[in-house]
Amino acid sequence: MKKLICANWKMNKTTGETESFLRELLKALGSLENSVEVVIFPPFTSLCVAKELLRGSPLKYGAQNCFYKEWGAYTGEISPLMLKDLGCSYTIVGHSERRNLFGEDDETINKKLKALLKVGIRPILCVGEKIEERNANLTHKVIESQIRIALSGIEGEVDELDIAYEPVWAIGTGNPATVEDAKEVHTFINKLLDELNPRREGRTRILYGGSVKPSNAKEFLKEREVGGLLVGGASLEVSSFLDIVNSL
Ligand code: PEP
Repeated sequence: MKKLICANWKMNKTTGETESFLRELLKALGSLENSVEVVIFPPFTSLCVAKELLRGSPLKYGAQNCFYKEWGAYTGEISPLMLKDLGCSYTIVGHSERRNLFGEDDETINKKLKALLKVGIRPILCVGEKIEERNANLTHKVIESQIRIALSGIEGEVDELDIAYEPVWAIGTGNPATVEDAKEVHTFINKLLDELNPRREGRTRILYGGSVKPSNAKEFLKEREVGGLLVGGASLEVSSFLDIVNSL
């Protein structure tokens, strides 16, 4: 299976900045190794630019969030159908910033996953514990609960999505999890997925996210348990993102 490297730009970059970044990245990247898939997650406002510039390129793009209805009176929301129309291959769901700043709960995340699967967009479900939960030895419990609720009723489609393990305390802090800690949680998630769907084919990649940089990307990517990386801050500069992609 190809390792998946994702650039989560969060609320950064205008359309002009997106265009410059993508032109520079495409030029520097040339072709992509067969063993890697690279997906850019710009803000909604730059998805059209991504569609234009990435057509025919080895790079894919997706959205950082969506609503779970197809259309209707939901001012300010964006539906999976609209994202499909824009050519998005992936969408991030349940990022800790959505959970903690915007009150997104596991039940809402479950609805979003179902809506994305329905239109054929591959979701990346984010899960992860807060520092006080890790210190209280609750990491497995928290992650199990997040995954069980998020996947409720769609256990049969677990091969059609990927999961990003992102410890909240590691996001944007410059303090990543150790490779051993990440591997331990990834193994736990894999066992849970086996239990939820004993007939799954193993196509769900478990990504690590949280303060990934060019200097530590390789040590995560070389592990069999790590199916890829979700990169925030270090994906905003072409050179650092390229170094991460090339570290494979
Ligand atoms: C993220 O945005 O999901 C993330 C992991 O951010 P950072 O790489 O900046 O920690």
